[in-house]
Formats: sequence, structure tokens, C-alpha cells
Amino acid sequence: MQKDDLTNHLICPDCRNRVTVEDQKTLTCTGCKRRFSWDNNVIQMLPSKVGRNCEDLAWRTLPYEGVEKPAWMALLHKKDRILYFYERILPKVDFSGRILEIGAGTCWASALIKKKHSESLVVASDISPYALEKGCGVASLLDSSVDYRIACDAEHLPFSDGYFDVVLSNATIHHFLDPQKGICEMWRVLRKGGKCCSLGEVAAGALFKAILTSRFGPEGRRAKSLEIEENVYSLRTWRRFFEACRFIDITVDFDKTWQHKLYDWFTALYYRALSSIPDAFIGDFLPCAIDIYATKN
Ligand SMILES: [Zn+2]
Repeated sequence: MQKDDLTNHLICPDCRNRVTVEDQKTLTCTGCKRRFSWDNNVIQMLPSKVGRNCEDLAWRTLPYEGVEKPAWMALLHKKDRILYFYERILPKVDFSGRILEIGAGTCWASALIKKKHSESLVVASDISPYALEKGCGVASLLDSSVDYRIACDAEHLPFSDGYFDVVLSNATIHHFLDPQKGICEMWRVLRKGGKCCSLGEVAAGALFKAILTSRFGPEGRRAKSLEIEENVYSLRTWRRFFEACRFIDITVDFDKTWQHKLYDWFTALYYRALSSIPDAFIGDFLPCAIDIYATKN
């Protein structure tokens, strides 16, 4: 696959017209003539109407991934998620063809996909240009790279319809202001028969959602301190998001593996206990991490 393949399929996030590459440093919209820069390996395609980029500001101040922290610290901090992805997801999902990761952060999942499927075109995107730049160091620690890094808003993806074979999100959608819109964008950029994998979300009933997102809960505290979205939805709501975007073959896996949640002993113990509780009580009542798979019809 040609490296310049993707640039022929970029669209303007403001007016949705095609974008042309003028030189290796600038892209121009054929409609509104807006120019997009291509610096430090990151193509900047955020909508012009995006307000304060709180996600980008949050990334810069994170204790293990912020400015001046070494790339290895970012990797070490995510080691449970990385092991889960490497041991459970990579062997299971076919990441061949054109792959888009949404909310890629420091791009470690995209880098692992590229390492295993070197023939695939792997595009890592995130709303934080800072995280994507940081990802260059993280990818080289994994002895890999990605083909493109694109700073964009998941609710205004700068890709033409039906371009990708697989769209991946990893602990991402719960940060969206409008998850329905973001999921429908994932549907739009997938080809017919293409697969969507939305990993690492949390499903919980109304009671636990209220506790988790309150100012005493982990999600609530994070949202307040970093000024970002941290949402929890019930299993039923998660399914409805995907059904409303016309996805088919929607399956949900409960991720009950306590071995990948050792970053916090309470969480690990909770998941250890969860493995002996019937599935009927999980997702619409008790909280659990879930992975959602769906296909574009
Ligand atoms: Zn435009």
C-alpha cells in the first residue's frame, strides 16, 4: 500500500470538501481554502470551531505522560492496558487493511498493530496533537511506527466515507461530548463490511453510574481535576448508540480479567469477585469494563 494513499482521502473538518497536498508541509481545502499544517509528523486537522482543547491541556500535565516525562514512563504507566491489548485483542482481531485508531493518545496500540501487520496502513488520530507527538518516542520504544498521525476531532473526522477496513477506539468514547455523533462518524468512515472495535469502556447501571461519576468516584474526580469528559453508560445505552448508527452484529465482551487491573488493588479485587457473579447482574447494574464489536452493513 502506498504511503501517500491516505492524503487522497482527507476531507476538511469544516466544510467536508476534499483536501489537496501542496507540499509535504501543507494541505489546502478545495472548498473553504483553509490550510492545514503537517509538522512534527502530525497533520493538524482539528475543526476551526473547536473551543479550548482541554484534552490536549490534560495530556500535557499528566503525571506519567506530561511534558518532560520520558517516553518509557508513558509506556510503563499503561502496562496493564498494553498487556491486555497484546495478549487478548491482537490475536483475536484481524487488523489487516486500512486501520484507523481514534483517541490513540501516545499511539501504543497503533504501533503494536503496525508491528504485527506491517503491510497494513495504520493511522493514529487523537484530539491532542501533544499526545501524538509524544507517541513518536513511544512507538520507537516498541520498535515500531505508524503511517500517519492526525490531530482531529472524533465528531468531525477528516476522512472520506468508507475508507477504512477497521476503526479502533481504546478507552476513548467515554471522553466524547456526544458519543452518538462520534460512533456515527466511525460508521461513516468504515467500508461496507468493515469492523468497529471499541475497547475499554465502562458499562454500569444508574446507581453505580451516579457513584462513579460523582465528585467522590474515580471518574468524577478525574473529570473535575482535568476538566475533561468521563462518562459511564449502561450496557443497554451502549448497544443503543451502535444500533442507532446502523451497525449490525453488535457483540459485547465483559472484560473481567483482574490480572490486567493490578494498577489499583481495589479494582483488581473487585474484578476478581466479578468473575463469580452471573452476567445478568453486570453492565446494567454492576460496573464492568466492556469491549464492543460491530460491523457496518
Ligand atoms: Zn474546507
